[in-house]
Amino acid sequence: MEKVKPILYIVVPCFNEEEALPQSHVQLSKLVDGMVERGCVAQASKLLYVDDGSRDGTWEIIEKLSEESSLVAGVKLACNSGHQNALMAGLAAAVEHCDIAVSIDADLQDDINVIPQMVERYKDGCDIVFGVRKERKSDTWFKRTTANLFYGLMKRLGVSTIENHADYRLMSRRAMLALLDYKERNLFIRGIVTKLGYKTDCVYYDRSARIAGESKYPLRKMLNFAIDGITSFSVKPVRLVFMMGVLFLIIALLMLIYVLTAYFMGRSVSGWPSLFLSVWLVGAFVLIGLGVIGEYVGKIYTEVKNRPRYNVDKKVGL
Ligand code: UDP
Ligand code: MG
Repeated sequence: MEKVKPILYIVVPCFNEEEALPQSHVQLSKLVDGMVERGCVAQASKLLYVDDGSRDGTWEIIEKLSEESSLVAGVKLACNSGHQNALMAGLAAAVEHCDIAVSIDADLQDDINVIPQMVERYKDGCDIVFGVRKERKSDTWFKRTTANLFYGLMKRLGVSTIENHADYRLMSRRAMLALLDYKERNLFIRGIVTKLGYKTDCVYYDRSARIAGESKYPLRKMLNFAIDGITSFSVKPVRLVFMMGVLFLIIALLMLIYVLTAYFMGRSVSGWPSLFLSVWLVGAFVLIGLGVIGEYVGKIYTEVKNRPRYNVDKKVGL
């Protein structure tokens, strides 16, 4: 592994990005050329565009760019597989050829000028460098509030994520290999990378508006992503069902006292005590039953995901 002049691949997932890609490419190629000239990264560094089954002319643009310049490589996915999967495909393709990879969105909302800083951090010994945005001013009010709510919830559910970090990050080769060992289908990469355990650092930037075209993350995709994020990392929602069952049982017991006093004081209609109590009791048992089953389903879920159990950082004397 070359540390002084690493081979850098910039991995860019693209879904229907024919409007943004040409402009993004100009900026990215200028950046990489500059870094090569300054001797910051190796000559063999590349831009790797992953076409995530676009229905517009994105792939044609990528093909043309790669014919024109040896700086460009492309991967085309057979159909739209989603941002996270496209990113994994890009990293899997890159890992054989590079020492470090930076993943970034095609719309360049993230400031590419901090990439040299990321590389510096790598040279200082970090395996993962997160790009963190300073503020979310450029996002719409809706996106900002929903994102804040979501990350707040994730935190309370015990999923570790880096606040205000999306999928703009640098990874060393061994970090990529470790990430690729996560074989699960419900991907939430930004939750996994914090689990790898390698040395990490952050660089900060201002997020700008999309360069061209419109967001490829409509509300439907955003919701799916959020649900994946929660359910792939936490079984707390299941525990919540169980706890609700316990709570209902407690209420049922309180009701028992209430109903019995009402009954003995002659303040109840015939049939009411039994009916009233059974509503709470049955509700409690159903919820507890669901919670117990859920707990097992949760265990099966983590087993079938077949995640790696550990990730070795260093070895000596071998
Ligand atoms: N993207 C993708 N597949 C999809 C949706 C999006 O590869 O199914 C890519 C898209 O081309 C962009 C990145 O994911 O490079 C982020 O999408 P976008 O910028 O539209 O999301 P937003 O910034 O609005 O959250
Ligand atoms: Mg964007």
